[in-house]
Amino acid sequence: MPSLPLFPEAPAGLSAKALRAHERLCAEYGCPIPWFRAQDPLSELVSALLSHRTRNASTGAAFRQLRARFPTWEAVRDAPCVEVQEAIAEVTWPEQKAPRIQQVLRRITERRGGDLSLDFLGELPVREARDWLEQLPGVGPKSSAATLLFSRLRKPALPVDSHHHRVAVRLGLIPESTAVGPAHRLLEEQLPPDWDAQRVYDNHEALMLHGQRCCFFREPACQRCVVLDLCPTGQARLASQQGSNPVGDTEEENPRP
Ligand code: SF4
Repeated sequence: MPSLPLFPEAPAGLSAKALRAHERLCAEYGCPIPWFRAQDPLSELVSALLSHRTRNASTGAAFRQLRARFPTWEAVRDAPCVEVQEAIAEVTWPEQKAPRIQQVLRRITERRGGDLSLDFLGELPVREARDWLEQLPGVGPKSSAATLLFSRLRKPALPVDSHHHRVAVRLGLIPESTAVGPAHRLLEEQLPPDWDAQRVYDNHEALMLHGQRCCFFREPACQRCVVLDLCPTGQARLASQQGSNPVGDTEEENPRP
């Protein structure tokens, strides 16, 4: 017997669905969505390394303390590791992140012949720039995409966070078994290749916001969801809720006076 296909829909169908979901969610969350910052790409990479499993407020506080304590990234690179660890104490696992950040800064310096900057990535095609970053220790697809998209380079690379990933799985854009890392390439391939950074950013932000405001981890609010008609998960949930409490089951068919 032939095995079931991994995807219920062909890639072209998935792209069409991804675009319909994008348009619907953009209308809901107000695209174009304003950029939240425009720092240099090296600072953005350090922010990404700090942010793993850490709240945004704590990541921001640790980043500011790092910048206040050390005047340059060279100074962070060359400082005693314990001082970097103290500066980023607000994030989770500072004892692991401090040596990792210093290792990354040293590696960039080596690969760039002594220049500690990532501005040169602006001259490279997106795929090449991502590959360059992902050869650094501890830098995966999410950090590479965030460095290129969120920094002042504004390159169209799609980051996928846990909210974005959850919404994409529930919509059926990617199989449930796809981890966040491999999801990057699958979801990026569903977007038109000529999209600029703003549209790629809108896509990421709109799906992320939907995960934060409607498609919650535990109890998604499917009954008020603007992409319910595209979502097999939401339709199945509502159908099973109706099945366990069918409309009219509290009323008698022929009520007596
Ligand atoms: S219908 Fe429900 S599960 Fe589907 S995207 Fe909307 S909130 Fe999430």
